[in-house]
Amino acid sequence: MTSRSGTSRPHTSRRTVLIAGASLAGPTLAYWLHRYGFAVTVVEKAHAPRGGGYPIDVRGTAVEVVRRMGILPRLQAAHIDTGRFTFLDADGAEVATLHPHAVAGSVEGQDLEVARGDLTAALYETVRDAVELVFDDSIDRLDEHGHGVDVTFRSGRQRTFDVVVGADGMHSGTRKALLGPEEQFHRYLGYAFAVFTMPNTLGLSRELVMWNTPGRAAALYATGDTTDDLHAFLNFHQPERPLDVVREGLRDPDAQRDLVAGAFAGAGWEVPGIVEAMHRADDLFFDTAGQIRMPSWSSGRVAFVGDAAYAPSFLTGQGSSLALVGAYMLARSLAMHGDHVEAFAAYERDTREFVTMNQALVDKGGARLFPTTAEALERRNAMLRELVAMPATTPQPAHSALVLPKPAPTA
Ligand SMILES: Cc1cc2nc3c(=O)[nH]c(=O)nc-3n(C[C@H](O)[C@H](O)[C@H](O)COP(=O)(O)OP(=O)(O)OC[C@H]3O[C@@H](n4cnc5c(N)ncnc54)[C@H](O)[C@@H]3O)c2cc1C
Repeated sequence: MTSRSGTSRPHTSRRTVLIAGASLAGPTLAYWLHRYGFAVTVVEKAHAPRGGGYPIDVRGTAVEVVRRMGILPRLQAAHIDTGRFTFLDADGAEVATLHPHAVAGSVEGQDLEVARGDLTAALYETVRDAVELVFDDSIDRLDEHGHGVDVTFRSGRQRTFDVVVGADGMHSGTRKALLGPEEQFHRYLGYAFAVFTMPNTLGLSRELVMWNTPGRAAALYATGDTTDDLHAFLNFHQPERPLDVVREGLRDPDAQRDLVAGAFAGAGWEVPGIVEAMHRADDLFFDTAGQIRMPSWSSGRVAFVGDAAYAPSFLTGQGSSLALVGAYMLARSLAMHGDHVEAFAAYERDTREFVTMNQALVDKGGARLFPTTAEALERRNAMLRELVAMPATTPQPAHSALVLPKPAPTA
């Protein structure tokens, strides 16, 4: 079959879906759409699934998603069992030591914390042999018409799909190709940060240590024992989003390193050594903290899911859970409605409140671990000391705000 524009269409009567991005939202959506009888293609700009990475939480409703995908036992085996969080003052003296649940709002037995690479690998394996996966390519151009979307890939290939979904993260190229610059959907939250791995010179084991001064935080996360590398995290208050980031994503790693090193100049404790390690790190990840807020998660035959549609920022700790739950809900809506307009409307109607509640955490103290003034830091420290005495914890909306509906009937 050939479409109006002369591009080739796969020989199938099944509805065809192209998903951009093979991280969390992409493979989850692919898994469920395949199960519902769709012909699924996933395009990922990296040359392979991206392994490694910082620890992330899978919470409440999202745990139910991975359970229904059959990968919960594997993720439970990969669960990072962190024993304690220790907070330090400017000189490295201890402010408080707490159990992680008291700080992160997680719930014993209901939440998982896994290395990001373990989660992406588990998700990838659920679809590896079931759907078409194209690495090292991305969407360059989208031309929608009455019967589908003609997609031109960066490689020059052209294909037509019934529906296209951008699951390509906060800085979604699919969103940009369709709707223009990210700025119109981006809400800057006032921080820039760097994440990288470094040798465990402090002998930390299954614990997180965080140093703070007003507007600056340096954290070391030992997810394994003393022989494993540490995840280092340098976060600092930056009232205006650095202009280079706005224009170019501050892609030059040297410029990123300089910005971070400048922010931590003169810092105490082990911070100079951490900054030094950043200069040597070959896996530096730098970004600003922000959210994506789109008035609508779809336009015509193209929809968005996960960080591409509603990144909540690391300050909420809910990005992975939203990606997993959002993908489940979008697949279900597409399976329940033959018409993409109805499907996208149902996806948004059933999921938006959950997303809004999770994004709102940043306005309800979500950033309290990163105070920007001396007074706010003192208040935070007092709160941490209280939590030591009385470790009550309020579950996050991730646990209760959405009861996951049953899967759609399979084809
Ligand atoms: C430092 C840090 C700490 C975090 N901590 C937590 C936490 O504790 N808990 C939590 O829940 N979340 C956390 N998050 C957020 C979490 O990582 C994201 O919310 C989650 O990964 C979103 O998944 P996603 O699949 O939507 O997008 P992403 O994981 O961003 O994946 C997007 C994928 O698309 C690919 N891609 C990009 N552009 C294109 C393109 N044009 N074409 C094709 N492919 C493309 C990318 O290579 C990538 O594989 C953290 C994030 C950061 C940065």
